[in-house]
Amino acid sequence: MGKKKSYPDVEGHLKAVKTGLKYLIENRRLTISYPEVTMELPPIYRGMIILNINKCINCGICARICPANAIKMYPKDDKRNPGIDYARCIFCGFCVDVCPVDALAFSDVHDTAYYTYEELKFDPDRLLKSPEPFKKPLKKVKVIFDEKRGLKYE
Ligand code: SF4
Ligand code: SF4
Repeated sequence: MGKKKSYPDVEGHLKAVKTGLKYLIENRRLTISYPEVTMELPPIYRGMIILNINKCINCGICARICPANAIKMYPKDDKRNPGIDYARCIFCGFCVDVCPVDALAFSDVHDTAYYTYEELKFDPDRLLKSPEPFKKPLKKVKVIFDEKRGLKYE
């Protein structure tokens, strides 16, 4: 009796094609068409930080606690307010948590793009409002975890 021939490469390719077709037909897509489509973010998402300058009491605790040394205090008149160097910031949230008067808060914007390093340095004036994302999404989808299918977007 002749030994049955085995073609592991061909079998592997056929298996891959079969898996691809299965996912195509079942539409089990795990990616989204970013940046036209983005995910709805949870309320606790740590995006770029916003400063409420009217609340800030100029204490500088945020700058002292920052583990990345990303916060610099900018003097103005007889006060000083924080600015953030986003080339350093690791979005740990320590500054937001430690602020005694809740003057710092996270926005839900993180998808920004800048040409130069200097543009990543936000002085207090630039922290006053959330930055614009580099491209406004046309649609936002919600991520749902499905026991059978894994992640789903709705
Ligand atoms: S989020 Fe963390 S790393 Fe970024 S500025 Fe605040 S304390 Fe520093
Ligand atoms: S910790 Fe809060 S109040 Fe103090 S300087 Fe920073 S933002 Fe202002």
